Amino acid sequence: MEKIQMVDLKGQYTKIKLSIDSAIADCIDNTAFINGPQVKVFAENLAAYLNVHYVIPCANGTDALQIAMMAIGLERGDEVIVPAFTYVATAEVIGLLGLVPVMVDVDSQSFNITADIIRAAISPKTKAIVPVHLFGQCADMAAIMEVAKEHHLYVIEDTAQALGADYTFPDNTTTKAGTIGDIGCTSFFPSKNLGCYGDGGALFTNSEELANKIRMIANHGQVKKYVHKYIGINSRLDTIQAAILNVKLGHLDSYKVARQAAAAYYDKQLGNLQGLTIPARSKNSSHVFHQYTLIVNNYKRDELKHYLENKGIPAMIYYPIPLNEQEAFSQIGRVVGTLSVTRQLCGDVLSLPIHTEMLQEQLDYIVDSIRSFFK
Ligand SMILES: *Cc1c(COP(=O)(O)O)cnc(C)c1O
Repeated sequence: MEKIQMVDLKGQYTKIKLSIDSAIADCIDNTAFINGPQVKVFAENLAAYLNVHYVIPCANGTDALQIAMMAIGLERGDEVIVPAFTYVATAEVIGLLGLVPVMVDVDSQSFNITADIIRAAISPKTKAIVPVHLFGQCADMAAIMEVAKEHHLYVIEDTAQALGADYTFPDNTTTKAGTIGDIGCTSFFPSKNLGCYGDGGALFTNSEELANKIRMIANHGQVKKYVHKYIGINSRLDTIQAAILNVKLGHLDSYKVARQAAAAYYDKQLGNLQGLTIPARSKNSSHVFHQYTLIVNNYKRDELKHYLENKGIPAMIYYPIPLNEQEAFSQIGRVVGTLSVTRQLCGDVLSLPIHTEMLQEQLDYIVDSIRSFFK
């Protein structure tokens, strides 16, 4: 059996090698390494896929979040609500800009923040919310947009793990993750659901005003050459990465189906096991399974992780430490409540290998190994 990996970038590349290689060769041939035509084409293709007015590519997902925070024009000391159970980038950029990350708990089923949790965290200084669509499933955006509207808050969606997920509103209209709030941010880090062969990221918005400002901020705050309206940053998607993403965007839906099929198999084989809980599915969001994350009961998580590793099965802990317990956030930010769910999840979650190239014998071996652990 082939070695089991958390992600299989080589196996995925092998299947699309001809188109990827020729897309890269074209870039090198044309030497337009920065802002080549492929960047614009990719932005247009992604905008069409997401059904959003504007896509602005940038250098990585963290920059996308930072640019979004800069574009909504907050002032030092303004508060931004973020889940304490997420990747550090979500809150890091808030701290970096002198804003206050307000760290809140998440729902024990969806692992995402909810409207009620947000409502309890709002203060007069609160200006924005960052729902993170963790592991590939959307937060309950209809309710979150309602709170946001009520309190005049900006909503910046961290869609780094959920590109391609569909959210369904109560009136049955369906939209793509990242296109519901004021700005959506994503990452094209190689292991993400749409990954390039290096770093990459993008912002989405339906607002022309925000799109223009985002474009300027990502490009040194420049209105036109040598005219600078804002203090900006330099954050670009390389032409070669855009060319690769153009090829891979055409496969994103089939990649999604492959991940969902692996997840469905895990669900079926592990759903009845005592000792663990399979990922809950939201009623109003599809799940694109950036991660397939179990809850391991009775403090057996680390034991199971080692057991699987000894059998050649990698498994990862996303995330082991709540953000508010990180030293970097010890002097900044505000913590709301006891974050009991976050703390429990950090102790109990375990993510299994899931990617677009999972083989049936690998899935069987993983499932059998987990079953044998609980025997
Ligand atoms: C990957 C990720 C990011 C950061 O993306 P980079 O491209 O690595 O900067 C931000 N938020 C979440 C939730 C992520 O998973």
